[in-house]
Amino acid sequence: MPTPRKLKVVVIGAGMGGLCAAVSLRQRGFDAHVYERAPALGEYGAGLQLGPNCFKAFRGLGLEARLRANVFEPVNMVSIKWDDASLRYREPMKGFYEPKFGAPYTLAHRGDLHRLFREQLPDNCVSTGKHCTGAAMRGASAVATFADGSEVEADIVIGADGIRSAIRQQLFGADQPRYTEQMAWRAIVPIDCVPRAFGPGGSTTLARDEYHGWLGPNGHVICYPIGNGDQLNIFGGHVSADWVEESWTTPSSREEMIAAHAGWNEALLEIYSHVGEVFKWGIFDRDPRPEWRVGRIVLLGDAAHPTMPTLAQGANMAIEDGYVIGACLDRHRDDPEAGLREFVAKRQPRTARVTLQSRRQFANNRMIPPPPPLSRDWIFEHDVTKD
Ligand SMILES: Cc1cc2nc3c(=O)[nH]c(=O)nc-3n(C[C@H](O)[C@H](O)[C@H](O)COP(=O)(O)OP(=O)(O)OC[C@H]3O[C@@H](n4cnc5c(N)ncnc54)[C@H](O)[C@@H]3O)c2cc1C
Repeated sequence: MPTPRKLKVVVIGAGMGGLCAAVSLRQRGFDAHVYERAPALGEYGAGLQLGPNCFKAFRGLGLEARLRANVFEPVNMVSIKWDDASLRYREPMKGFYEPKFGAPYTLAHRGDLHRLFREQLPDNCVSTGKHCTGAAMRGASAVATFADGSEVEADIVIGADGIRSAIRQQLFGADQPRYTEQMAWRAIVPIDCVPRAFGPGGSTTLARDEYHGWLGPNGHVICYPIGNGDQLNIFGGHVSADWVEESWTTPSSREEMIAAHAGWNEALLEIYSHVGEVFKWGIFDRDPRPEWRVGRIVLLGDAAHPTMPTLAQGANMAIEDGYVIGACLDRHRDDPEAGLREFVAKRQPRTARVTLQSRRQFANNRMIPPPPPLSRDWIFEHDVTKD
């Protein structure tokens, strides 16, 4: 009997979503190839929080041991009031999430995760310097076109090309993402910058292995250990009516970051005083859209459902998408469009709910006093390997 032809899948974008999709598809015997606009592969140097839900996707890909070697599991989550640095609450993480949700809550350097995915792919599987301009159906095939005039024909094209996706624009029109009235600074400092005791009478304490967040009416600052615990990742979220930069990521300075957090407790500003290289980002999202597919062309990750980072789930959802698209296409080898339909049907409701809860949590964080955080249990409980 002749061996069935391997289905050819073109993935546009080598971010977390695109690389995870390529790994998931290749493990299932698809001929997946990734095309990335950037001249070289890499990820922005910053941290990423991985919920138990995302950890389960890595586990499903057989990458649990490698993931564990690259992540830090914080002992507690500590919430601190922005001005007097009094303790809002301290909750256990290590030894709590894993029994409750079936996997731990972990923290990683984005570059380490990017490398982990890349190591699962053959060298010639990713082409760089390939700026995709769009994709269209040609008969039963999907064709991606590139700025250099080339095109690639495949059984399926996946647009994993981020929030300003060229494929999304071609399929569904040129609507712009929405500025969310939030911007953020991102920086990494040595873990020794974390103060040990501060706040009213020194009553707030922090250990090096704790995740901590500072909540104020005009911003939310999240700090957590990454790597082997020797570095502290800072997400300095700030409410701001305008984002005037053309890019949504721009070099900034420690001074600008400190000025934007004037009036915040000196213990936080002391951490900021150690910042070296720092970038600022405008935070954008989009309303959930019901359809991500036209024929054999489909979106995933931020291209399909860009989400505010309030719940730290954007990349988690992109990675879940990457896992699930492989599983759905595997189940429908004789009918790829049915596989893509199943993919969208499984992923759209979940990601839409995450996008909307991220917005609601951001609004709640701005209330005085802020209500307790909305439950994320439904996000963490989910296991995409059972989808
Ligand atoms: C400040 C901040 C903090 C965040 N923190 C977290 C967190 O802790 N946890 C979490 O889960 N999420 C977090 N997120 C969200 C997360 O970063 C994104 O959801 C995630 O990176 C989306 O992955 P993606 O692969 O879909 O898209 P991207 O990461 O945007 O990757 C898209 C890729 O496509 C390439 N590309 C773009 N256009 C083209 C083109 N035309 N042709 C070819 N290639 C192209 C890009 O160069 C890029 O490599 C955060 C976001 C921000 C802004």
